[in-house]
Amino acid sequence: MNMRFHAVVVRIHGHEVRGVGVDSETRCAHYGTERDVVAMKFGCCETYVPCVRCHESVADHDAEPWPTARTDEPAVLCGVCGFEMTPSEYVARSSCPECAAAFNPGCEAHYHRYFEWIDDA
Ligand SMILES: [Zn+2]
Ligand SMILES: [Zn+2]
Ligand SMILES: [Zn+2]
Repeated sequence: MNMRFHAVVVRIHGHEVRGVGVDSETRCAHYGTERDVVAMKFGCCETYVPCVRCHESVADHDAEPWPTARTDEPAVLCGVCGFEMTPSEYVARSSCPECAAAFNPGCEAHYHRYFEWIDDA
């Protein structure tokens, strides 16, 4: 079986990240472009996961978006440098405030899966 599609637990800059085929900068089997370098914490398990499809594969429960009351707590990880952003910081930026790595603008279409206060567009 191809390694790329295995559920794995990796440590990235000291943070545990769970997903499918996760590389050293949080890319996964579903989102693997140069800019796919963030992992999000979900409200249900508070674990860093690269994407909601990874969550479906590795978790034994439904994904809960990060709660509105906690938008100012770190819940987004830059896989390039290990910097942790708050969700409000992340949605306002197109690159990492610490290392300037560019983020995938396509992620915006899925924000409502990750962040409770963002409505499904
Ligand atoms: Zn979860
Ligand atoms: Zn994924
Ligand atoms: Zn960074």
